[in-house]
Amino acid sequence: MSSTPRCPSCRRFVYLDTLVCPECGTEMGMQVIDRVFVALRDGRATGDDGTWFACSEREWGCNWLVRDDAPAGRCISCRLTRTRPDQDDTIALEKLAKVEEAKRRLLLQVGDLGLPIVPWYTTPGGLGFDLLSSRSDGRKVIIGHANGIITIDLAESLDDVREAVRVKLGEPYRTILGHLRHEIGHYYQNVLIQDDETWARCRDLFGDERASYQEALKRHYAVGAPESWQDSFISEYATMHPWEDFAETFAHYLHIVGTLQTAAAIGIRLDAGVSTLRDIDVVPRDDYRDEPVGRVLADWAALSQGFNRVNRSMGLGDLYPFTITQPVQRKLAFLHEIITRTPLTTDEQVALALAPGEESA
Ligand SMILES: [Zn+2]
Ligand SMILES: [Zn+2]
Repeated sequence: MSSTPRCPSCRRFVYLDTLVCPECGTEMGMQVIDRVFVALRDGRATGDDGTWFACSEREWGCNWLVRDDAPAGRCISCRLTRTRPDQDDTIALEKLAKVEEAKRRLLLQVGDLGLPIVPWYTTPGGLGFDLLSSRSDGRKVIIGHANGIITIDLAESLDDVREAVRVKLGEPYRTILGHLRHEIGHYYQNVLIQDDETWARCRDLFGDERASYQEALKRHYAVGAPESWQDSFISEYATMHPWEDFAETFAHYLHIVGTLQTAAAIGIRLDAGVSTLRDIDVVPRDDYRDEPVGRVLADWAALSQGFNRVNRSMGLGDLYPFTITQPVQRKLAFLHEIITRTPLTTDEQVALALAPGEESA
């Protein structure tokens, strides 16, 4: 999101998931190509570029807009969901709404970064989401990523379930958005790394991903993370297998630039004389594409410390309860390089992604 989202009528700030302005009551939807909210009348908005309609999932909280020719009137985000709970499973659908909200935020961010989104229904191996509930029919949901499809257990949208898992695994942080950022890291590893030279550099940093995953899984749950893993990994789970290290670090890259982007949209800046030992103010940027990774990391070091202090003043845990060591900095530098060297997705590509596709489900 390049600027603060606002109500199209009264210009009040609104959150990304807003359906109705709390100030003036205007019904609104997001026009995703331009990232702006437009006012809806009878579920539609007509502008210079034609008519846009509310996504047919609006009753479940989706506030994105679609062209009138989109299949079944579902927006690009909703159509990326390949499998979802049955239409009569309203309990699961409520959980789905929370996951979909996080997913829309994720998609806006990867779109802002210029990362390609190739839908599962146009290309084998394309991006898709199976959003299933282990609570609904007692089925076991194997979460993770395989061949473009990200599977999430909707039960994790329940605070007590997710918190219990977090405590059990000894994680300092667990959210739906964080989970999605991790899984999409698996997807982008194969999309962004194509040539042998880049794969070789990736293996130098994260380890050889061709190592047996099953063996690694067994070892991880039998003996846990190696001692002093904190020196070279961002999280304990990252030690499990090179794939997981890449995905964990990718998620952190998204945490960092996404939060800096929000700070920029709010207009936050840190006064050099007050809060940092640097001699220049810290001014977070909306976009770090043309900045060296050192700038990203320095801005984040200052801002995250500030946010942690804010959280502590409310009696909460740290906003960013992680330490970025030098080896992790090198991994993040590699990610910054491969993400920012991807050509920016053009408007035509976005339009293509929004155009109707052949859906089989
Ligand atoms: Zn308003
Ligand atoms: Zn939608």
